[in-house]
Amino acid sequence: SHLRRADIRVTKTVCTYCGVGCSFDIWTKGRQILKVQPTVEAPTNGISTCVKGKFGWDFVNHPDRLTTPLIREGDHFRPASWDEALSVVAERLFDVKSRYGPDAVMFIASSKASNEEAYLTQKLARTVIGTNNVDNDSTYCQDPATYGLRQTVGYGADSGTIQDVAAAALVLIIGSNTAESHPVFATRVKRSHKLGHQKLVVVDIRRHEMAERADLFISPRPGTDPVWLLGLSKYLADQKWLAYDFLASRVEGLEEYLESLAPYSLDYTETVTGVPRDLTMKVAQMIHDAPSLAILWAMGITQQRDGSEASLAIANLLLLTGNFGRPGTGAYPLRGHNNVQGASDFGAKPLFFPGYQDVRDPAIRRRLEALWQVPLPSEPGLNNQEIAGAIHQGRLKALYIVGEDTAVVDADARDARDAFSRLDFLVVQDIFLTKTAQYADVVLPASPSLEKEGTFTNTERRIQHFYPAMEPLGDSWPDWKILQAVAHRMGANWPEYIHPREIMAEAAQAAPLFAGVNYDRLDGYHTLVWPVKADGQDEPLLYRERFHTPSGKARLVPVHLQGPNHEAPSFDLHVNNGQLLEHFHEGNLTYRVPGIQTLVPQVFLEVSPELARERDLTDGTWVRLTSPTGWVEVPVLVTDRVRGTTVYLPMNAVGTGAINDLTGTGIDTHTKTPAYKDTVAYLEVIRRA
Ligand code: SF4
Repeated sequence: SHLRRADIRVTKTVCTYCGVGCSFDIWTKGRQILKVQPTVEAPTNGISTCVKGKFGWDFVNHPDRLTTPLIREGDHFRPASWDEALSVVAERLFDVKSRYGPDAVMFIASSKASNEEAYLTQKLARTVIGTNNVDNDSTYCQDPATYGLRQTVGYGADSGTIQDVAAAALVLIIGSNTAESHPVFATRVKRSHKLGHQKLVVVDIRRHEMAERADLFISPRPGTDPVWLLGLSKYLADQKWLAYDFLASRVEGLEEYLESLAPYSLDYTETVTGVPRDLTMKVAQMIHDAPSLAILWAMGITQQRDGSEASLAIANLLLLTGNFGRPGTGAYPLRGHNNVQGASDFGAKPLFFPGYQDVRDPAIRRRLEALWQVPLPSEPGLNNQEIAGAIHQGRLKALYIVGEDTAVVDADARDARDAFSRLDFLVVQDIFLTKTAQYADVVLPASPSLEKEGTFTNTERRIQHFYPAMEPLGDSWPDWKILQAVAHRMGANWPEYIHPREIMAEAAQAAPLFAGVNYDRLDGYHTLVWPVKADGQDEPLLYRERFHTPSGKARLVPVHLQGPNHEAPSFDLHVNNGQLLEHFHEGNLTYRVPGIQTLVPQVFLEVSPELARERDLTDGTWVRLTSPTGWVEVPVLVTDRVRGTTVYLPMNAVGTGAINDLTGTGIDTHTKTPAYKDTVAYLEVIRRA
């Protein structure tokens, strides 16, 4: 950051909201935010931002900000000094560890905090407590995509950059409300499409903005997308429209995969998905004609029981048609939070040390034990989805949550809240007293990105540096300082990190994936896209010569489906959910930005014109939706964005409209990601407009 006029500070920062990772200059005067100014230097967004990046910062000065540690006393909190709060945290964590063992403690890293802070969260879990019980939000979102890509091509991340997607001849978006969830990413697709050098196919159960713009809009029945993908793949194979040279030289498992597609005839596919066969054939023709194809997907695919399998089907389709390793090609699972990619990359996962190094591998453990100077646990830990169950079973006694509102975002959130009330000890480190924090024994006040320094990794695997624009508010501290203080208070032999650059230097030693990452190479708007070799060479476009597998070849992996939820027929509606442009996730930040709050003060339940006629609903009718796990009350909005008996509830609701009071217990086969998008309910009118 540098000074323009005596009292005006211009600081490079990276957006705190979505995984697109827009960067820009922010102008401040003391704590006052004057403006956000994008610049052509920004590698992802250039001069674009969306409403959240441009106007979404006032939460940093909201009166609700936590400015001092809090300690529970009966049913209220009292302010405490850092010294007292840290002592209580250290003593109680030690106590649980010594009574029940290290695996009775779990950590959740924040997918909004920095890479350095994710690294320290996992280091605290592993080296001080001695458990691999550490996770982040990715279990709730893109782990199924990570699984599908690791099985097939090797790296669980986007295979190219936003420029590759902009350059693709054909873009297929499936299960992603890109215009609202990843606005600036969508802008790139819209521009290429408008200029005429890109075709767009959108597959979704909801007719959102990208669907309106698409050359072809395909709308399968809820939860049947993987069947459609397999039907499409089989038709491509039957037409002999596969990339045979590419398959012969770079891919294993073709024959077995083609055999596994046998059941997915056009007939069967049409019957299951409801997509007319001529539409599927048209998409196949477009893929065959296109010199390059990029596929974008998000929670509409991954938050299903078959999320991992559907992600496999996507990766397989790209392999069959030779769409990896060239500009304009590849797989793009779009990351939600600004640093959910980085939180996993830097080791806040129960199965992986930093850089996706398997905790079960003895050679890897030995190397990290030498670096960290402690014995390391070898058993994979619990993930987020398993927390409530493990508490109910009495296996998990203490939880340390950094910047996540688990009591709101976990599926079947009422059950999660019930579980939290049974914990021996809960520490929450956050910037607001969230619903989760209200269950805490100790609350530690943290600082948001504008008040600290660090790096975030966006959906492109791009590591970007952000700088402090102002001092921490009150007695709040950056998360890395808090984590370090807790570790030291517990007697850990950690170095005394003075600056986040030292934490990154250590992470680069720990993980070969980041070997050449350091702050000198990340100065200002300079970025690195992992993997980064020791000499600083990064790799924006993966798989140009080899896949990240032992043989260097990709693998086609047969897909096995469970099919969607079949609850009792009385739950006659399918509840879809997703983002609103103006708000973000559970709304803890955006509902505290007055400008945004005035624009969209309340969420609506979208219902189709057919359903509205049948149930006599009009705009503003209040309804109660009841699912097998809970209920919500919301006003109705009649719109043809949704069809038939599918309704849509934005996830950005507080209070009585909170989606996770409805979501259930279905989980993805491989990753246990909750099937948030696979929810059923029935509807009752409670008040007419
Ligand atoms: Fe921020 Fe995402 Fe909007 Fe960019 S697109 S400004 S990263 S919320």
